[in-house]
Amino acid sequence: MKLDEDSLENTIQETLPHGISASRIHAWMFCSRSHQLKYDLCYPGITGPAAKVGVKMHDRIAQALQDGSEPRLPRKWLSSYKDMCQQLQISDNLLVEKQLLGQAQGEYILGYLDVIDLDQCFILDWKTGKVHGYPVQAYIYSMLVDQLLGEPLPMYYAYIRHDKLIQVTKDDLIKGRRLFHKFVDRDDRFLPCFNGGANKCLKCSYRMPCAAVCQGI
Ligand code: SF4
Repeated sequence: MKLDEDSLENTIQETLPHGISASRIHAWMFCSRSHQLKYDLCYPGITGPAAKVGVKMHDRIAQALQDGSEPRLPRKWLSSYKDMCQQLQISDNLLVEKQLLGQAQGEYILGYLDVIDLDQCFILDWKTGKVHGYPVQAYIYSMLVDQLLGEPLPMYYAYIRHDKLIQVTKDDLIKGRRLFHKFVDRDDRFLPCFNGGANKCLKCSYRMPCAAVCQGI
């Protein structure tokens, strides 16, 4: 069975209750209430269509990299994929969808890395959504790989839908480290409550359990 980062977390949390992943911090950054609902109270959220497509494309790419074949992707995405593999001169000595555990700032961290190229020495993360930075993920993945291999590796984000290959910078890692610290140092006493008229709540995948918990149902 293939695991995405969320299902990996569910598995690992049974033995590693305090493991912190990038998606956990992203949930907290979106809304500290949705973080509580998902990670402390274990409510399931709704998986939207974009996330489903993302999981499917990641599975296809991982399978193709392991088989040495071409992934089945939309035509434009495939063209980006090939260009990026060419640009990075991706080797066949890869760790694909590698689950890693480690430590950062005295906390357990975990990640599910799309590609570690052991010959060309880089980390690669496929993105099927919009182009924007993921400094916390970059920080966590860099720490995990550093602890696995004993040396840091450059990391790239491959936005295959937008044909953009972007390397993580030192500033990204510094920002990621700060955000990680902010998360570890958080105060969960005052969480926002469901607001049916707010845009954020309308598109939140935890709006149902949130409404129930906030209304004491
Ligand atoms: S519904 Fe609104 S308050 Fe509740 S978790 Fe989502 S964004 Fe936060």
